[in-house]
Amino acid sequence: MQQLGFEFSAFPFPYEVVRSRRKTLVIYVKSGKVEVRAPTKASIKWITEFLTEKSPWIQEQLTEQRRRKKQQLVLAEGTSFELMGQPLTLRLATAGRPRAVHNGSTLTLFLKERSKAKVEKLFLDWLQEQAQAYMPNKTRYYARELGLEHKLGKVTYRKTRTKWGHCDESGDIQFNWLLMLAPKPVLDYLIAHETSHLRYLNHSARFWRTVESLCPRYKEHRDWLTNNGHRLWPAA
Ligand SMILES: [Zn+2]
Repeated sequence: MQQLGFEFSAFPFPYEVVRSRRKTLVIYVKSGKVEVRAPTKASIKWITEFLTEKSPWIQEQLTEQRRRKKQQLVLAEGTSFELMGQPLTLRLATAGRPRAVHNGSTLTLFLKERSKAKVEKLFLDWLQEQAQAYMPNKTRYYARELGLEHKLGKVTYRKTRTKWGHCDESGDIQFNWLLMLAPKPVLDYLIAHETSHLRYLNHSARFWRTVESLCPRYKEHRDWLTNNGHRLWPAA
């Protein structure tokens, strides 16, 4: 793939043209950036016309991405967030050994130095502990409900942008522990979803019926994740 620099133009947004051995033009709008993938010899005129035609759509995407970005979790003094649906307020204290203390409706992060990276690390470590205390048990519970406990492998965690959870052939299940910040029924839905993959490693109608047997209102929770999932990510 040949990478060309940003080309500023008559459009109200900068864009980048990436040329390669493809036959058609396609536009990607990701993380607030516009990228046009074009055939090696595509003319500027063709690309410009295509951009003109797609301009309203591109601007819509950019606006939506900005809106979502603003809704991301900001880890600062006084931030409100929810742990499995329970409202908590974040407090930052500069004292003593770094640690997270959850007391009633307050989570206090004690730090030597209040840098964004340190706050985020301490918060995410704490969140992963909460996940560890809940997710494996709930997964085993659902696996038992399905009579598939023998198929369940390890439960681990990872933070990926693309997936909230993952289940593989060996029965190992991975969760994104940021799900602990979602309402509890949504969290449970995702656990039910991955556990149901122990029976069907696909998204067939039978798979969804299995999910439904564990989680009758799964559609609602799935929609919640589609529409609100971005709010669970700490702002970059
Ligand atoms: Zn799935």
